[in-house]
Amino acid sequence: MHKTHPLLPPATIGILGSGQLGRMLAQAARQMGYGVHVLSPDSNSPTGQIADKEFTAAYEDLDAVRNFAQGVDVVTYEFENVPAATAAACAEFAPLRPGAQALHVAQNRLREKQFFVAQGLPTVPFAPVTSLETLLIGLEKIGTPAILKTATSGYDGKGQQLIPQSPISDLHQPASAAWDAINQQPAILEGFVEFEREVSVVAARGLDGSFAHFGLIHNDHANHILDVSQAPADVPPTVAQEAVAMARAVLAGLDVVGVLCVEFFLTHDGKLLLNEIAPRPHNSGHLTIEACVTSQFEQQLRAVCGLPLGSTRYLRAAAMANLLGDLWFPHQEAETEETAVSPPNWLSVLQNPHVKLHLYGKAAARPGRKMGHITALADTGAEAAKIVHEARASLIIKD
Ligand code: AMP
Repeated sequence: MHKTHPLLPPATIGILGSGQLGRMLAQAARQMGYGVHVLSPDSNSPTGQIADKEFTAAYEDLDAVRNFAQGVDVVTYEFENVPAATAAACAEFAPLRPGAQALHVAQNRLREKQFFVAQGLPTVPFAPVTSLETLLIGLEKIGTPAILKTATSGYDGKGQQLIPQSPISDLHQPASAAWDAINQQPAILEGFVEFEREVSVVAARGLDGSFAHFGLIHNDHANHILDVSQAPADVPPTVAQEAVAMARAVLAGLDVVGVLCVEFFLTHDGKLLLNEIAPRPHNSGHLTIEACVTSQFEQQLRAVCGLPLGSTRYLRAAAMANLLGDLWFPHQEAETEETAVSPPNWLSVLQNPHVKLHLYGKAAARPGRKMGHITALADTGAEAAKIVHEARASLIIKD
């Protein structure tokens, strides 16, 4: 039988996945006197370094998963590609939050978009793709440019192919090239949105259905990876309210207990289109650690433990810049040989008394790998963004 709620310290939370999101959740949990166990295929992982106990096993090793779940009071996850059988094995011993429904929908881009439509929420034009023929039918319907994305396992732009603007009579060649490039996997075709900007809402839903959100966050991407976030986003209040209402509908529709992020495109005429959801704390919410009364990680802990949600009030505007592994290879283009590793000049960032440095304890830097982030608070999000941009630029030691 699952324990009755709320789960108070020193209860133990179990985390599936051991990257930076698990690490920051573990840090919030340890601060409040909770125990933390983590399971992933890795050892000495970013989360394992903070946890009381690190289980190293494949997610498919259900004996190991059951052994892990037996020792915790609640299980949550820091990535959405947790196999359904793993989630079910955990749920035999402890509540899984957010539940299996959120995982099921978030794991598949097509199911995600179909869920938006079923909820009456606006999203990009899309079509299911299972063959070159269905891709051509989709392209005729949606037009070009369009993006072909694998239905599963894609993140940060992986498994995506842009199909450039092409005359309708000439779609076969670009379609076939894109279909081959994604290895002919089941996919979704999306219309290419000329958005004005990308924004997100990180929100939480408690066990009692209570709802709290961190407002609208403005996100700039580089090479499909989040680069800089700032909050509050500088948009008309009606846009922010609308986005929050849509996020609320998503969390309620999936019966989420925990934190979930909804990412949107904001078009030039002020329309919000849902792009994707992540049923966990999100990179765009890292700035809440310094900026808000309650961080997204403490909020996740509170929600999954059945505690009252904390205040999401901003103490000041904030911005966050990701630190990718590319910073370790300043003299090389991404994708080239990783030979001349030169650690970033941390002192230059630490010289700015307003900038907060977070490093995730990853052993090896690789181009595109999220190694850490920096955050600054200021009077406006734009001002904070300027500070983190400058601080990050100062990290590279020039010859
Ligand atoms: P995703 O993994 O689907 O969030 O895609 C990563 C990034 O690619 C997004 O944050 C956008 O910058 C870009 N992108 C994805 N889908 C579209 C689309 N339909 N139209 C325009 N840009 C897109």
